Amino acid sequence: MSGVLYLVATPIGNLGDLSDRARQVLGAVDLVAAEDTRRTGQLLSGLGISRPLLSVHEHNERARAAGIVERLQAGQSVALVSDAGTPLVSDPGFRLVRAAIAAGVEVTALPGPCAAIVALTLSGLPSDRFCFEGFLPARTAARRSRLAQLSAEPRTLVFYESGQRLQAMLEDCAVVFGVAREGALGRELTKRYEQVCRGPVGELARRAADEPDLCRGELTVVVAGAEDRDSATEQAQLAELLPKLLKHLSPSQAASLAAELTGLPRNACYRLALELTKVD
Ligand code: SAM
Repeated sequence: MSGVLYLVATPIGNLGDLSDRARQVLGAVDLVAAEDTRRTGQLLSGLGISRPLLSVHEHNERARAAGIVERLQAGQSVALVSDAGTPLVSDPGFRLVRAAIAAGVEVTALPGPCAAIVALTLSGLPSDRFCFEGFLPARTAARRSRLAQLSAEPRTLVFYESGQRLQAMLEDCAVVFGVAREGALGRELTKRYEQVCRGPVGELARRAADEPDLCRGELTVVVAGAEDRDSATEQAQLAELLPKLLKHLSPSQAASLAAELTGLPRNACYRLALELTKVD
C-alpha cells in the first residue's frame, strides 16, 4: 500500500457504519491525517488501532499538503479522515488531494457515510438530480441572496445547517422559495434519536420556532427544486425587492408598489411584507 493517499469516510453518528475496509486501511497506513487528532485518536483507540496522527484542518491544510505529499512520494501510505463523514464534503482535504494529484501520487477513496446523501435519500424528494450547497452564509442578507440565486434551480437542494441558524434559514427558504415549497429536515441521522421531518418549508420553519428540540444536534436540510421556473424567479425577485422597499415604506405601501412592479398579486406581496417585517 505504499505511496497511496486513502480518503476514508467515517461514521456520522453510528460506529457500526465504519466499513471493514476503512478499519483495515486505518490500521495499516503509516500516517493518519485527521481534521481533529483528538477525535480521530478516540475513534482509532475504540477500534484498538494505534497509528501516528497528524492534524490537517481548514487553517493548516495548505501548509501541511506539501509535507504529506513528500511522505507519499517517499513511499509512505496516508489515510485522510475528517471528524465525521466523507472527507472533502464541507470538510478539509481538497487542497491535499489536488497536491497529491499534481505530484502524480495515487489517490483512492473508501466511500461511506455522508450526511447529505443520507438526508437526500430519506427526504422523499426527487433524488435523481440534486445540488449540494453545503453551509449557507451566516448573515441574513447574504443567505437570502444565495437562496435567491437558487430559487429557479430545478434540482433538489441539500444544505448543511447549524441548530443556531436553522429557524432563520428555514424562514428565509419560505420567504425566497415561497412557503409551499416542499422540504425535509434530517436531524441526528444514523444516531439513536434520528428524526426526519417532511413538509412545506413554511411549515418546517413554524415547527423549528415552536419545537426547540428540532434545532438541537446535527442538521441537514433538503429542499425540493423549482417546478415552475417563472413563478420561482418572480418569487425570488419579490424577496429581493421587498426588503429594499420596506426600508422606506409601510408594509401596505411596499406591497402595493411591489405588486405594481412585479405583476404579482398584491395579497401575496402583502403577506410577504408582513413576514419580512416580523423576521427582520
Ligand atoms: N463531511 C461530512 C459528511 O460527509 O457528512 C460533513 C461535514 S460538515 C462540517 C458537518 C455538517 O454535516 C453538520 O453541521 C450537519 O449540518 C451535517 N451533519 C453531520 N452529521 C449529521 C447527522 N448525523 N445528521 C444530520 N446532519 C449531519
